[in-house]
Amino acid sequence: MSNFQYAEMPDAEGYFGEYGGQIIPPELQQVMNDIDKAYEEIRQTEAFQNELKTLFADYIGRPSPIFHARRLSEKLGGAQIYLKREDLNHTGAHKINHCLGEALLAKYMGKTKVIAETGAGQHGVALATACALVGIPCEIHMGQVDIEKEHPNVVKMKILGCNLIPVTRGTATLKDAVDSAFEEYLKDPQNFIYAIGSVVGPHPFPKMVRDFQSIIGMEAREQFLSRHGKLPDYLAACVGGGCNAIGLFTAFLEDEAVKMVGIEPAGKGLDTDKHSATLTLGKPGQIHGMKCYVLETEEGEPMPVHSIASGLDYPGVGPQHAYLKDLGRVQYDTATDQECLDAFITLSRVEGIIPALESSHAVAWAIRTAPTLNSDQTILVNISGRGDKDADYVADLLGL
Ligand SMILES: *Cc1c(COP(=O)(O)O)cnc(C)c1O
Repeated sequence: MSNFQYAEMPDAEGYFGEYGGQIIPPELQQVMNDIDKAYEEIRQTEAFQNELKTLFADYIGRPSPIFHARRLSEKLGGAQIYLKREDLNHTGAHKINHCLGEALLAKYMGKTKVIAETGAGQHGVALATACALVGIPCEIHMGQVDIEKEHPNVVKMKILGCNLIPVTRGTATLKDAVDSAFEEYLKDPQNFIYAIGSVVGPHPFPKMVRDFQSIIGMEAREQFLSRHGKLPDYLAACVGGGCNAIGLFTAFLEDEAVKMVGIEPAGKGLDTDKHSATLTLGKPGQIHGMKCYVLETEEGEPMPVHSIASGLDYPGVGPQHAYLKDLGRVQYDTATDQECLDAFITLSRVEGIIPALESSHAVAWAIRTAPTLNSDQTILVNISGRGDKDADYVADLLGL
């Protein structure tokens, strides 16, 4: 297996092996190809590179540190656990990395409006933040049911000046918000841009979002090498759509000795219908304009998925993950809601770091795996975001 295939992914049509592509009407393919062409030109320019680099440093606060979780490692009595602290980014998670990239690209392309949907509001807040900074109008579609559930994120989006569109059709949740946002986008795709929230959707989004997120692994590789003179033995990251994971993995793909694990939500158990383990239990199929693994009902509809972490409940997954799974380059494992809760509390109490419930899936995997390894081995866990947003929910659940 040559290294070439990793560096060159995806091909010109947006395929990672058999996954990805543009499963959309021809008019939209043209629009997507225009975005790809503009992106490939703009990303090479010094102006764009300098602006993004400066904002990563001075606005997001990059590089995010790597922290040695000494107490946790000692307690587990095995591998040394290190944390890549994306939770310390401005707005508290990794999403700001690609939202800033997308907002800047929109500005350089002369777009007049950035459109997106949001479920729990994390993508909405990160995008509204980036658009406020860049100075471009932002319109976020959100289901009415979600609006009522996610009050803190709703008010943040309003404060940041985005136009929040409540969606009342259907079940008034994420799926309806996607439909509503997409209809608005189709009114003028020349002047609007649809900012996808992970490494999913039609080409070029899986590639662009990966490129913007790959800063995580580029930093981590350098930080780890300069401190330890060697690379980590394992990388671990949670997988919903898969952008924080691919962001960490990309810089290490050619390092054959580095094992990589993506952790999906097993929810209430893989033997129930309350999980979101797309790569673990799904099959190759189509969703949202791409070919990837999909969790489907017997009727071929996307399955209603579940995770304690709302950022991970997606019945598809980024096409590059599907490819890396088939190649065997990345292993995909799962953690249940209960393991995730335990990990959330453990990291909080042993290291004083409250991780997002999403990130807690990766922490749970490290807690399970470290005792099976030697004390000179290392696991680098991506803490994709901070858990402030989950604190009230967890406190209620545990009766704190
Ligand atoms: C949205 C989110 C995720 C899931 O998104 P990916 O595309 O799978 O990375 C993970 N962690 C946090 C904190 C999130 O907000």
